[in-house]
Parts: sequence; structure tokens; C-alpha cells
Amino acid sequence: MLISIVAPCYNEEDVLARFHEEVQKVAEELLPLGHDMEFVYVDDGSRDRTLAVLEDLADLDSRVRYVSFSRNFGKEAALLAGLRHASGDSVIVMDADLQHPPELIKRMVALREQGHDQVIAKRTRTGDRLTRTLTARLYYRLVNRLVDVELVDGVGDFRLLSRRVVDAVLALTEYNRFSKGLFAWVGFPSTTFEYQNAAREAGRSSWNLRGLLNYGLDGLLSFNNRPLRAALWLGVGLLLCAGLYTAWIVGAALVNGVQTPGYVTIITAVTALSGVQMVMLGVIGEYTGRIYYEVKGRPHFLVKATNVERTKDLIP
Ligand code: UDP
Ligand code: MG
Repeated sequence: MLISIVAPCYNEEDVLARFHEEVQKVAEELLPLGHDMEFVYVDDGSRDRTLAVLEDLADLDSRVRYVSFSRNFGKEAALLAGLRHASGDSVIVMDADLQHPPELIKRMVALREQGHDQVIAKRTRTGDRLTRTLTARLYYRLVNRLVDVELVDGVGDFRLLSRRVVDAVLALTEYNRFSKGLFAWVGFPSTTFEYQNAAREAGRSSWNLRGLLNYGLDGLLSFNNRPLRAALWLGVGLLLCAGLYTAWIVGAALVNGVQTPGYVTIITAVTALSGVQMVMLGVIGEYTGRIYYEVKGRPHFLVKATNVERTKDLIP
């Protein structure tokens, strides 16, 4: 079995060589079991020496394939490029910063041999800040109520995919890619095991609070139109309330005559309703924005340098 390791790399010059050493070790251990390995590294427009490191690695190790983007296109695009350029019967997607322990690869391969199409590594949250753990828990509870696919806390992009899963994921050509959801959407027999997340070896995480919030929103919106549905129901509910309230006011006016006060009611109604309208417009806007990006049909990434012969991705 040929196993491809796919790793997106963004400004990972400090850790990349060490990462490659570690996976090479695993490759040596897997060789006697009849498994070959190739390494597909995607340089996501790094601003440091990542590309130079990759070129050196490719010179030393003929199993190294690298693809370098013309600029930073984001991890999702890098993952897609990696999957497109991987030729393995199984593909293992993992981060290049050694937060996904390479020694787990053997376990994944063993589980793959038992027939699972997706072997998913689930990180435990031990050692995380309490606030992070709680927000994550809250987020997943909310999201799972709203989206069709099941998203699990701690499950990320560290997983093994069989060839048919890779082909299925590649057949999903949408521009807004939310991998967690795409992998879940594809399905096929899957199994999950837990591991303890390691601290980043070097470099820094490219996430900040804003990025996380936007990512969370993407997860909510990229899988169905339930937020639109929710907006519709909210509107219907408000309309009903308004109808009842109007009937009551008109009734009261008929019985008691018109009494002028009502400042508080009016201000409350105006501000609350305009707030709700703005939110609904925002929801519609989000979907329209997504349609806009899809319709443009731009490529997910542009390749600047690669040692892979198939350069069809220059113009996808
Ligand atoms: N990454 C990428 N493009 C980006 C940001 C990150 O390819 O724009 C890669 C990065 O090199 C790493 C992985 O995605 O291999 C995870 O990134 P990071 O460690 O910053 O995220 P975290 O582990 O904090 O979730
Ligand atoms: Mg990381």
C-alpha cells in the first residue's frame, strides 16, 4: 500500500525539517510491513524559507513532492492541493508543526487495514485553557443543532483517508471549503481514536480570535440553509406577535378610546425590530456572498513552483 502524507505548511521553516525526519522514521518502520510512503508538502505562500527547506528535502529524498503557492491561499486550499497531488492508496492529512504526533501514523494504518475508510484522530482537550474548552463545547452543541453533518469537538484535519474518500472529497469542487464538514459529509465507514495534542514545536499558530470566529461562522453557514429557515420562522413569529398586539391595541382603543402614551412601546418595537431585520439581512448577505464567490469560479490556488510533473493545477 502506498501511503501519502499531506501536510500544509505556512511559515514552518523552523519545524519542517524536524517534521520530515519524524515521518521518515515512521516510513522506515512501515516499510517492512509492505507500505511505501510519499510526502506531499504544500507551501501556502510562506514568507520565510519554507520553500527553500522543501527544495532541500526534495533533493535529499526522492519521495518528497512539494507544491508552492503564488501567495497565501489558506489552509483549506493547501489541503485541497495536497489531496490533488497525492497518489497514495491511503492519504494521511496532518499539520506540519508536529502538533499531530507522527507516531500515530502506524496506528492509523493498522486501523485502515481493518477496513475503515476514514481513521480520525480526535484530540483531547486536556491542557487547554478552560475558556477555550468551554467555548468549544458550546460552539459544537450549537453548530450540531444547525448543520446536517455531525461535527465533533476535537476532531480536525488529522486523519487517514482511503482512496475512495479522497476521490469523493476531490469531487466536491465548492470554493468555500470547510474540510471538517466536507470529510463528515462524505461519510464511508469511519473510526475515531483519541490522542493528546502536543504543544507547537516552533513557530506560531496563525489563528487569532477573529479568525476563529469567522471559521466558526463558516462552519455554520457552509452546510445548509437552516439559518435562512430560522430567519424565516423568526419573521413569522414576530408577525404573529405583531398581529395579536395590534388586535389588542385596536380593541382597547374601541373600548376605552385613544390614550396617547406609548413612547416606550414604540421605541422598543422600532429598535428591536430593526435589529432583527439587520441580522436577517446579514444572514441573507452571507449566503449571497458565498454564491458570488462560487459563481466567479476562480481557482482555489495558483502554483508558483513544484516538483510534481502534473502541473494541470496551474490552470485548473
Ligand atoms: N497553515 C496553512 N496556511 C495558513 C495557515 C496555516 O497551510 O494560512 C498550516 C500550518 O502550516 C500548519 C497547519 O496549517 O501546518 C495548522 O496551522 P496552525 O498550527 O497555525 O493552526 P493550529 O494548530 O493552531 O490550529
Ligand atoms: Mg498547529
